Order: sequence, then structure tokens, then C-alpha cells
Amino acid sequence: MLSALEQYDPQIYELIRQEEARQSGSLRLIPSENYVSRAVMNATGSCLTNKYAEGYPGKRYYEGQQVTDLIETVAIERAKKVFKADHANVQPYSGSVANLAAYNSLASIGDTIMGLELSSGGHLTHGSKGSITSRIFNSASYTVDPETGLLDYDEIEKLAKKLRPKIIISGYTAYPRKIDFKRFGEIAKEIGAFHVSDIAHISGLVVAGLHQSPVPYADIVSTTTHKTLRGPRGGMLLCKEEHAAVVNKTVFPGQQGGPHMHTITAIAVALAEADTVEFIEYAKQIVKNAKRLAEKLMEYGFNLVSGGTDNHLILIDLRNKGIPGKKMSKALDRARIVSNFNTVPGDTASPFDPNGLRIGTPAVTTRGMREEQMDEIARFIHAIAENIDNEAVIEKVNREVLLLCSQFPVPDHFILPGKKVLHPLSS
Ligand SMILES: *Cc1c(COP(=O)(O)O)cnc(C)c1O
Repeated sequence: MLSALEQYDPQIYELIRQEEARQSGSLRLIPSENYVSRAVMNATGSCLTNKYAEGYPGKRYYEGQQVTDLIETVAIERAKKVFKADHANVQPYSGSVANLAAYNSLASIGDTIMGLELSSGGHLTHGSKGSITSRIFNSASYTVDPETGLLDYDEIEKLAKKLRPKIIISGYTAYPRKIDFKRFGEIAKEIGAFHVSDIAHISGLVVAGLHQSPVPYADIVSTTTHKTLRGPRGGMLLCKEEHAAVVNKTVFPGQQGGPHMHTITAIAVALAEADTVEFIEYAKQIVKNAKRLAEKLMEYGFNLVSGGTDNHLILIDLRNKGIPGKKMSKALDRARIVSNFNTVPGDTASPFDPNGLRIGTPAVTTRGMREEQMDEIARFIHAIAENIDNEAVIEKVNREVLLLCSQFPVPDHFILPGKKVLHPLSS
């Protein structure tokens, strides 16, 4: 594929090559990122990018859907199977528009939606001020307890009774602990609200059975497909049969035009990969790695929000180290360790220069790294924090990181050796 590109557009070819080198020569600790398999890459780069398929299988607005109908049906069936859902819509272009479609399916303009505040770990699209969701809907928010960094379900219940939102949103972008989706479902039911659950970050852990699934307890579940689920960039909605028609209508024609069939094709592939014993082992290792990394960081005196992690991500509160989040993430980047600065609960600094750092283990786990490598990564992060203004040390860590990366090459990596599909779709 790249050789045509190399001949036709050497400039872009060279830039892609540089990005490949950057991705393989650095430690990807951004918890929302991953490396997809070669099979997923093949599907996204396929001729399916050439096809318009407005509508749904069997009800399209263009001809020539002999194959697209089959592909989308396979993607839908695989999604329903791995998430144990009545209905799946695999057309949302991303997690953000999937969320918008979830709200638009259940609420009207001006209704109140209630999600976790951005600075507590909520997502922009959960009604944050900078997001269109706060202009279409009236947004209310709950927070985590600033002391413990944990959700306080009794407080959330009290607030919900007071504010009477039409929709309560569970699921987050920077929350390192398990979430009691069942309790959210009960709170919503108690006040006659709908429950939308956004598992963009943890959907891979949910599929693997490591975290509670919100599917039985939420009216609509929204997810991205490219984070722990390890598929192409995209979004997906899962719901009970009673909401199936409105969800489909809201996505198309409500919000979108033609679905990105090459993405849907790749989502189908990723869902087959997720339906394997190997994927469950992968998900378990993500969590083991995150726990080990958290433990080691705490030994080095780092304060972690909530004192650790149950999932794939770690939020470091840098206030005791006296290092602003952005300064830390930039220094780490110079040492080939890629993370993102983030607010921490109770942070009074601006979101453009907050006091936290967010890291995670999905991508390094895909490269085959295990507990032993987490010890090394913790040591690197400690060395950078202790020598934040010392470029010689940063350069030394840079070389050590490169060596580690060379021992765990990114892939054509995960060939999923002896790939076993647990419950073949075709049977
Ligand atoms: C990443 C994320 C999204 C948005 O997904 P995009 O594909 O970037 O639009 C939505 N919700 C949560 C909780 C996320 O973490």
C-alpha cells in the first residue's frame, strides 16, 4: 500500500514513516491510545472507503450494497454478542457524536443532562462548558470527592433528586476506579431519568469481563472503538430493544450522512479479535500492569488520585512534587515517554496547565510489556521528576527508553498466536 504512496506523494509517505518511527520508538502511555493489529489496518485501508451506504442493512438509499449490508450486519452481530446487547449501532463517527446521539435519542433541547464534571474526570461531551452538549442541553454536574478522588453515590443520588435531570451519565475519561453502573441505573430509575453510560475508555475491560458491564443497567451505552477495545477510530451505541428504532433514527438521518464503511469493516475485525481468549488475557495484563506501575510510582513518592487503580489508567497528582503537569509531560516527551497533562480533583489550576498527569497501560501491554517493564517505566518517570531541569538526565532516560522500545517492537506485532474464536459467529 505504501509503495504507491511513496511514488505518488513522497512528502506524505516520508511523514507517515516518521510517525511510524515515533510510535515504535517511544513509550505510549496515553491511556486512550493503542496499537491496532495489521488485520484492522488492512480493513481500514480497504476499498470499503469508496462506498456510500446511507441507511441500514436492507434499507439503503444507494444501490450496490450487496457486500456492505453483509459487512455491517456482521459488525452489528459481533457487537451484540461481545457486549451481550439487544441492539447495536456501529455507525457513529466517533465517541463524541455517539454521545450526542445517545442524548438526542432520549432527551429534547433544553432538558437537563447530568454527568461528571470535567475536572473530576468527566468527558467534554458530558455537558462541559466548551462542548455543544452544554448549549443544546441544560447541563448539571456531579464531582468526585476531592479528598478520596472517588465517586460518592449517595451524594450523586441526592443531587439527582434535587436537579431531576432527564439523563444521568456514567462513565469517564479519567477515573481510575471501578464504576457501579447498577447503582447509577437505580438512581436514574428512582427519579424517572434515563441512564446513559459512556464506556469509551474501559470497553475492552468490559468485554473481557473484568469490569461490570453497564449494558443491563443503562438505557443506552456509548463507546469508542479505538481505546482499550483496540479497533479503528470510531464510535458505537448499544441499547435495549425498546430504544433501537430511535437510536438508529437519531444517528441516521438525525446526525450523520453516509457511514464510514471502511471503519465499520475494521470494527468488525476488532470485535472478532476481542472475542478471543487472547484478548481476555491481554485485558487482564493491562490491569496487572497498571496496578504494578501504580504501586511502584507510589513507592517513589508520587501521589495517585484515589491511591491507585482498578483499570488501565493512573492519575498522578503532581502537587507534592511541585511540578506543573505540562512541564512534566513535556520533559517526559523529550525522554520518549508520551503522556498527557490532566486536571486532578480539587485542582484549581487551569485545564491548560493543570497539576496532574494521566498515564495508562493499554498500548505498552499490546507491545508485550509486563510487570518487569512497568518497574522500569516507574523508574524512568521518577528520574525525570527528580531531574526535571536537567537535560543530561532526560537525554540518558531517552536512550534507555529507546532500548526498551527496541526490545518490544510494535508490530506487525500481535499476530494473536493460535487465535481462537470462542464462539464463532457463523455457527
Ligand atoms: C475518548 C472519549 C470520548 C470521545 O471519543 P472521540 O472518539 O474522541 O470523539 C467520549 N467519552 C469518553 C468518556 C472518552 O474517554
